[in-house]
Amino acid sequence: MQSPANIRVHKDNRLLELKWSDSDTSMLPFRTVRQNCRCAVCVDEFTGKQLLDPESVPEDLGVLEISLCGNYALRVRWSDNHDSGLFTWNHLRSISDHIAGSAG
Ligand SMILES: [Zn+2]
Repeated sequence: MQSPANIRVHKDNRLLELKWSDSDTSMLPFRTVRQNCRCAVCVDEFTGKQLLDPESVPEDLGVLEISLCGNYALRVRWSDNHDSGLFTWNHLRSISDHIAGSAG
């Protein structure tokens, strides 16, 4: 699994920057990442159905704290006090690919 070489949090622009390699960087809006949270509160672990209403995530969502979980994921504490989600590198890449796909 590919892990990012560098991670930056742009609080002013509400963007999470993940630098995978010299030529490959993902810029992920906080809100999009939060909307893709797969924790047990946001997604039904048995059916996979999303329990979170994406529209309920504030437009001005911020990040209070971000920390590494081992070497495979990020744990984020959001400004709406949600902190039970883990975002693996694969998951963050798939969010990034989804954004790129819908933009192009
Ligand atoms: Zn969640």
